[in-house]
Amino acid sequence: ATKAIATPVRTQAILKKYGFAFKKSLGQNFLIDVNILDKIIDAAEVNGETGAIEIGPGIGALTEHLAKHAKKVVAYEIDQRLMPILEDTLEPYDNIEIVNQDILKANMTELITNHFSDIKDVKLVANLPYYITTPILMHLLMAGAPVSSITVMIQKEVAERMAAVPNTKSYGSLSIAVQYYTEAHVAMIVPKNVFMPKPNVDSAVLHLKLRESPPVELEDEVFFFDLVRASFAQRRKTLRNNLSRHFKDRWSKEEIEQALMNVGINGTRRGESLSMEEFATISNKFYQLTK
Ligand code: SAM
Repeated sequence: ATKAIATPVRTQAILKKYGFAFKKSLGQNFLIDVNILDKIIDAAEVNGETGAIEIGPGIGALTEHLAKHAKKVVAYEIDQRLMPILEDTLEPYDNIEIVNQDILKANMTELITNHFSDIKDVKLVANLPYYITTPILMHLLMAGAPVSSITVMIQKEVAERMAAVPNTKSYGSLSIAVQYYTEAHVAMIVPKNVFMPKPNVDSAVLHLKLRESPPVELEDEVFFFDLVRASFAQRRKTLRNNLSRHFKDRWSKEEIEQALMNVGINGTRRGESLSMEEFATISNKFYQLTK
């Protein structure tokens, strides 16, 4: 039988056959370890009923694995040079479709309606290009793509920030943005040597389970995220100081202090100590004051 695509020998052979040169600007680091792929499939809870969407199939390492475990796979790849290669490497599978498109320009809701009409459970699984991890994930979450979970290999530090809890170094506005839409956890840390070429940074697999409803009730989402970002603007400053600076054209320091006191939050705390619920309380109070 042919070796899996995600083996060093087979990957080398494919690259050589097509004279493929990696494009750093597209974040091309291909997986060459079958064990890691098994663990990604496990973390994503992919099974025979699953519809899988992949971003950036590369030469098909993860795509092949998904095809073996899922019912159907649709993969978006931006690099046109990979199209003939994927046609060749994934030729044995009849449950894969490749779309030559930039994921940031894709309408995933439409894709799911058109390609997964017979499937109840659609999951996103990918080894993401690291240069656009955060834009891709925020794009998907904000667009409300109808997937039940997102399991992605990303830069370790970013995964830790997205899954972080209050009072840790990694906790910040990105943690709150991601956790407003999902329950997030780091499934595993991944060493550099399972990629070709080796990236400069460590990686991790992040698992995001989409929430059915938001964890907090907000008067205004835009106002909330703006206030959260402002609260972390200068991490060493107090909440009171960060908010006073941000809202200086609207309210005095005293008014800010008073509003915080009214909702029972001490203005000398730092943003990193506040839970999402506390941010929601502050945001709803301040939003009312704008009216
Ligand atoms: N899935 C393969 C693997 O695990 O070996 C390749 C992963 S590699 C880290 C990222 C892939 O995403 C590359 O194939 C790259 O060309 C592709 N890519 C980069 N930017 C993209 C974008 N905006 N939309 C879709 N694919 C993109």
